[in-house]
Amino acid sequence: MDDSGPQVERGPQADYDVVIIGAGPAGLSAGIYARRAGMSCIILEKGVPGGQVLTSPKIENYPGFPEVDGMKLMDAMAEHARMYVDIREGEEVTRLVRSGERFEFTTTNGRYSSRAVILATGSFHRKLEVEGEDGLIGRGVSYCATCDGFFFKKKKVVVVGGGNTALTDALHLHSIGCEVSIAHRRDAFRADRHLQDSIADRSIVVLWDTVVEAIIGENEVTAVKLRNVRTGASDLLTVSGVFVAVGEVPSSQLASELGVNMDPGGFVVTDMSFRTNVPFVYAAGDVSGGIRQIVAAVHGGAAAALSCFEDIAKPYFSRTR
Ligand code: NAP
Repeated sequence: MDDSGPQVERGPQADYDVVIIGAGPAGLSAGIYARRAGMSCIILEKGVPGGQVLTSPKIENYPGFPEVDGMKLMDAMAEHARMYVDIREGEEVTRLVRSGERFEFTTTNGRYSSRAVILATGSFHRKLEVEGEDGLIGRGVSYCATCDGFFFKKKKVVVVGGGNTALTDALHLHSIGCEVSIAHRRDAFRADRHLQDSIADRSIVVLWDTVVEAIIGENEVTAVKLRNVRTGASDLLTVSGVFVAVGEVPSSQLASELGVNMDPGGFVVTDMSFRTNVPFVYAAGDVSGGIRQIVAAVHGGAAAALSCFEDIAKPYFSRTR
């Protein structure tokens, strides 16, 4: 362990106390706490720092920021983390194996080894898995209202889902001038009450008990085929855009390769200290499920780093007693 100063790379394969995979709120928080605890550390991020929060147009529940753009919040978090830890952007971990007492990483850019790993790999958008979806991605089918909503100004769009993401997306699309309806498979939303109230206040049309059976269009979306699950009635809804917001799938491939326990949904199982069942492997943020909030991810990253510090430092502590 080193207790201060810049990261030290030793030899052709850089070696660290802990390697953090993912630079969303969990990974960034883990990096800050790991370095402040005196561990050598690096964050490997396959894209850019920020994770899915980057695509949130407005965040109103992160303490200290009554209303903040997701990108702004994550830029600030990444800048803060960089004061302590090197974030290797655009560097994907393609192989992670245990070799004796160390973990060995192969990435798209190099090789690393470490005593411990913090998995902060996040999650990705679940697909509807209906006819027409794959072929029309980027031609009217979108999983990110903030990224793509602009192209649908003054057009008819349907948002699919009934969680916080679906309702936030619907409100965002409505704000920028889209004609929005929401198709939800049940007769009640699971989203927070204040979002439901805002949907009602703006008189956004909700198609209850409705599933999308197919997305229709030659080169771009022109309609969706809907079915009412109570009555069985089918209908075509003319739209230019379909915003799919039906939940998240954890990015737990690397966890699985390490033999980490996962729940039936594929989320990594941890204890209260964010330790997994595999010694020196920790997980935090969306990959470990839970309430999937920024505050929870930030907490998880910090707790995982401190647990890691306790485990790595144990031999030093016991020697000095
Ligand atoms: P979610 O809460 O899991 O909601 C997914 C929605 O999609 C549910 O309404 C679900 O229906 C529906 N659904 C799932 N599979 C479907 C399918 N195959 N076909 C049609 N509908 C389907 O996911 P999320 O909204 O993306 O939120 C993920 C996490 O991020 C949550 O913990 C959420 O609280 C958090 N989040 C928070 C905020 C915020 O605090 N402002 C904003 C965005 C996200 P059922 O309800 O019938 O299951």
